This record gives sequence, C-alpha cells and structure tokens, in this order.
Amino acid sequence: MNNKSSYKYLLSDLTSLKGVGIKTRNLLRKKKINNIFDLLWKLPKSYTDRSISTKVKDLKIGENQTVTVVPQKYLFPRVRNLPNRVICSDETGNLDCVFFNSYEGYVKKILPLGKEITVSGKINHFRNKYQLTNPKYISEDSSLIKQVHNKYSLTEGISEKIYNKIINQIIKKLPLLEEWHSKNILNKFGNISWNKSIEELHKSKNIGKYKDNFYQRLAFDEIFSTFLVNSEIRKKIKKIKKKNKNINLKLQDSIINKLDFLLTNDQAVSLREINKDLSSSTKMFRLLQGDVGSGKTIVSLLAAYNTISSGFQVAVMAPTEILARQHFNLAKKIFPINIKIELISGKSDYKNKKEILNKLKNNEIDIIFGTHAIFQKKVFFNKLGLIIIDEQHKFGVNQRKKLSDKGGRDCDVLLMTATPIPRTLTMTIYGDMDVSFIKEKPKSRKIIKTYSKLESKIDDVINFIRKEIKYGNQIFWVCPLIEESKKIDHSSAVKKFEFLKKLFPEQVCLLHGKIEIEEKEQILNNFLTNKFKILVSTTIIEVGIDFPNANVIIIENANKFGLSQLHQLRGRVGRGNKDSTCILMFKSNLSDNAKKRINILKKSNDGFFISEEDMKIRGFGDILGFKQSGIKNFKLADPIHNSDLFLLAEKEMRRIENSNEGIGKFKPLIKLYDRADIINDIA
Ligand code: ADP
Ligand code: MG
Repeated sequence: MNNKSSYKYLLSDLTSLKGVGIKTRNLLRKKKINNIFDLLWKLPKSYTDRSISTKVKDLKIGENQTVTVVPQKYLFPRVRNLPNRVICSDETGNLDCVFFNSYEGYVKKILPLGKEITVSGKINHFRNKYQLTNPKYISEDSSLIKQVHNKYSLTEGISEKIYNKIINQIIKKLPLLEEWHSKNILNKFGNISWNKSIEELHKSKNIGKYKDNFYQRLAFDEIFSTFLVNSEIRKKIKKIKKKNKNINLKLQDSIINKLDFLLTNDQAVSLREINKDLSSSTKMFRLLQGDVGSGKTIVSLLAAYNTISSGFQVAVMAPTEILARQHFNLAKKIFPINIKIELISGKSDYKNKKEILNKLKNNEIDIIFGTHAIFQKKVFFNKLGLIIIDEQHKFGVNQRKKLSDKGGRDCDVLLMTATPIPRTLTMTIYGDMDVSFIKEKPKSRKIIKTYSKLESKIDDVINFIRKEIKYGNQIFWVCPLIEESKKIDHSSAVKKFEFLKKLFPEQVCLLHGKIEIEEKEQILNNFLTNKFKILVSTTIIEVGIDFPNANVIIIENANKFGLSQLHQLRGRVGRGNKDSTCILMFKSNLSDNAKKRINILKKSNDGFFISEEDMKIRGFGDILGFKQSGIKNFKLADPIHNSDLFLLAEKEMRRIENSNEGIGKFKPLIKLYDRADIINDIA
C-alpha cells in the first residue's frame, strides 16, 4: 500500500480493522471517532510495562509483574462462591492463579497443565502464598504478554486490550505517505516523516514529550492544513470578479469633516484598505478587528457611504435590535438627507415591513439596518453592493462562506468584531478573510479604573454612585442572568431595579430581554438623553451599544463572566472623555485564581492582551464561545504553547501563495486533516 492515494486507507471505516465489529464501531462513533485516522489521536495516558519477566521467588507483592510458569494442579471447589484455583510454579516456587466467577472449562483452556504459560498482573499474598487474582494477561505466547501495555482513557464498553490491539494494528499498517513538506520545513523538525512521527506519538515512553520533533511536526501539520484550506478559500473568493465601486473621496471627506473628532491613524488606514477592496474588481471579504470603543462603526459607515455614492445598496446587520437601531440613528445623523435609510425590525408591523421589502426590491432604499432578519429568504435587493456585519465573532467559517455567497457577485462583505484575539488565533479562525486592525483607541480616552468589591460592601458602592450622579454622570448596573439557559431569568435585574429605585427615586430605569422592543428603545432613549441616571440591565448591553455619557459600570456577580466578556462589558464606559470606573462585585472572597484573573483586568485595558491572558487560563476553545462556532479543535496544536508553529505555518503558507508550486502535493494532508469538502477541486 504505498501508492500515492494510500492515505485513503486512513479514512476507511473502523470495521475494516480486525477486532472492530459494528458494536465497537458504534461505541467509538459516539466519541466522534469515525474512521481510522480519528483513532490516531487516541493517545495513551499512561502505561504498564509488562516486558520484563521475573522468577516466582523474586515476585514483588502489590506490583504488576510478568512471570512464566507451568500449571501443576487444578483446585475446583464444590462449594459455590469459592474461587477456582490453579497451582502453578517455576523452578523457584509456586504461584496460584485464582478465578472468581469462572467456568472450569475456561480455566482449563487458558491454563493447561504441564505447559509453559506467561501470566502478568498485580501479585498479592494470601495465606503465605503468592497469588494472582483473575489474571487478564495470560498466554502461551510470551511475546504477546511481554510488551508495554498502554492505558487509554476508556470509552464505555471498549477495554484497554482492545484499544491496544486496534491501535497497534493501525500503526503497523500505516500507509507510506509521500512527504508533503518542503525540505526547509522538514529540516526544522529533524527531518522526521509523518509515519515515524505517528509511531513515536503512540510510544508510551513519549507521553508528554511536546517539544520533541515528532510532536512538533504533527502539531505543525494540523495548523498548516488549516491555513492552507483558509488560503484556498481566500483565493477562491479573490477570483470572483465584480463590478468595482468608484470611490469619491471628496464626498467621503465631506462627511469626515462634519464629525466632531478626527479619525485615528488606524481608522484611516483601515478605511483606506476597505476602499481599495471596494474599488477593486474582485470581491472583498474582510474582517475589521478592533478593541471595544476603537471606533469601528464610523469606519464601516464611511465605507457604506462610499458604496452608496457609487450607486449600490448596503445592508448592515447587527446582533441585537438595539445595536441596529443605534447604527441606524448614527447614519441618519451623518449621511446627507438624499440618502434613503431604513430600519427593519422584528417588531415592525406587517404593512410597514412589506413596504420596506418592496422599496428594497425597487432600489428605493440605499441602506438598510437590521438583525439577521435582513437576510431572510423573502428579502430581495435590487443592487446590493456591500454587506456589513457587526459583532459577529461567533460566525463559523461555513456561515461566513454562505454570507459571502449571498448578495451575489457584486456584493462585498465586511465583518466587524470587537473581540480582539491573539494573532495565532486570527489566522486560524479568520484565515479565509483579509483582516484590518484598529489597535489604537481615540486619544481623548481616559483609562477606566477597575475595582473589585464584595457584595456585602454595597453601601460603599451606593455612596460612590451618589457622588457620580451629583457630578452629572450616568451609571450602568449589570446583573447576570440567573439561568444561562434558554429560559432567561431576569429576576436579579428586576430585584436590583426595585432596590435602587427606593434609593434613587425617579432616576433608575430597567432593561432586559423580555421588554418589548418599542419600550426598550424608549428606555434607551431616555437614558441617552439623561432622563435617568442609572440603567439596570442584564447583559443585553454587552455588545456594541454606545453611551458616551455613562462612565460608571457596576457588574454584579462578576465571577459569572469570563475575562473577555468582562472587558466587553467594561467597554460600555470610557467612551467619552471623562474618567471612568468599573466596579466588579463578588458574592464571596475570591480564590487565588480568580484574583489573578481580576488583576489582569485591573492592570490592562488592552483587549488583545486580555484575550491572550484569558486564553492562557481557560484554553482557546473557551474564550468567547468559539467552541460553539464549530471552529476547528486542534488535536495536538495549541495556540498558546505553539505560537512559533503558527507563525512558521503562516510564513510557509505565504511562500506557497507567492510561488507557483500549487498545493497538489498537500492533498493527503488536507484530505486527512481538514474540511476538505470546502475545496473539492484541488489538483
Ligand atoms: P466599537 O469599535 O466598539 O464599535 P464605536 O464605533 O461604537 O466603537 O465607537 C465608540 C465611540 O467612539 C463612539 O461614541 C464614537 O463616536 C467615538 N469615536 C469613534 N472614533 C473616534 C475618534 N477617532 N475620536 C474620538 N471618538 C471616536
Ligand atoms: Mg461596535
């Protein structure tokens, strides 16, 4: 089996293995092990060395020992419940093999009198005799016993013995795959082949040797295959020809000049990158990544304006209606009145909605804001030229792919996320897109002071906000959902609202998910126009919304949130030019680990740094629910410990992109490791 396509063996069904029937296959499938390749990542956790045998006189009690003996005599008691016993010996002494709940026939078969048999197991001592109770490792063929036996975290119904048997079988039969890496890359891993690496990976003596060549090479393979696939998707999107937009910088600048601030350098650079994409004749598929409050909205609206001036429609999608409404309002404020702006909301009445849909179809609306409702089947655009999606870090690659197809050829796509993530992850998660970064925040921003407080000290907090209100400031008070399941429970927010209302009559308002949208908007508007001083809410305010006058945020039960989520919440304040405060409240004293985490927040307001630290503590799958988005879970690679491999993979990917090598030789790698269905037509 050493033809080129022999990798296919690794993708074959588990039942093609000896010792795996339908039952075992179904058990393994439950563990997401669907083919032989998947089994390669089932690694030993520890092992028992049965390779060295001893003599009976040297047996050590309580330890796993291997010994070759000759069965001498059966003692099969008449009384039920007493064990069957076989007296065995070598030239140095006796060892009894004892069987509870066994059939005589079975015992006779595995321990025939007078034959040399090798047994292995934990030795105990009973009435001054060595004995082995219910031995599992018994064979006439000592070579079958005298091995290192790996221990696996077990799947119900599948024993260690079976795992050892099937995995050894696979390793012996590994197809000889042609090397896919360049000499230069291979050299970095001591020229170890994929096959050899897999063999080493399964040796129990290598457990935990993450720095060794075999491990690093295999981790690199995983990362690199992901990057290659991303690169292919990106190339494919780049090939889509579109009608380019004519950017009129004069018109753009007339809007910029009306703003009451100057764009930061990063904003200007990002806008230029986007404009370049818009005016090119290939489809844009770009991510605008920037920390909370870095000013992404204005950049995207300027891009929208340029698209409209060039004769196209724009659709802006936000994750919540509140946010969609806020963007809509901003557009109305800064765009000239000849631009037709609409908002479609889940609660818009039927007649209204129908009218909007008609207008969209007839090109009588230039830009529409809404939640995912704007991408429902019934919505037709006349000349959609740009889709903007805000705060959608939870979209997986497949969802994004679908989006890029939506809207048709001439439609560019801009995604925005306020979820700064380490570079290694950006390449992994958004590698199919081009990325613009806004790292710098507007200069006028003051730092947000962050404190932690025990709930029992709530009086201090009340005194503090009383003072803030006196200075004309506004306060967010965030209560976590009690049930974080589908059944959303607002009771903590309602209770806090009642409590604060007594202390601050007429100054407190309440917002949660169950409030009707019109009322929600009324509440937010009242808060925005300073009619209320304190807004009590659930985490509904987490994403995106912008209230420059609010400069204090209290987050209750803060240990319910991850660091990145706390950073997002905190990002609701510190948007204006006043000093801001974030108070994290806790029910009880913090554990050391929790203190460590909170200190990271106190120390830094840099989302990129915080997400990196968060990732170190919780692992990358956990931060911000990337797990749910179906992003690839690496089997060996780790974005924290292997950041060098991620960078190397990026470099190699770029090298290949810029050469004319093609990726044909990586076909086995991609087919084995990745979402190969995304690129069916590689050479
Ligand atoms: P995010 O990147 O989190 O989406 P927003 O776009 O909501 O941030 O911007 C946050 C606030 O910063 C808004 O009030 C916006 O008007 C303001 N802003 C944006 N750019 C600048 C800038 N260059 N200088 C000062 N304020 C800015
Ligand atoms: Mg935003």
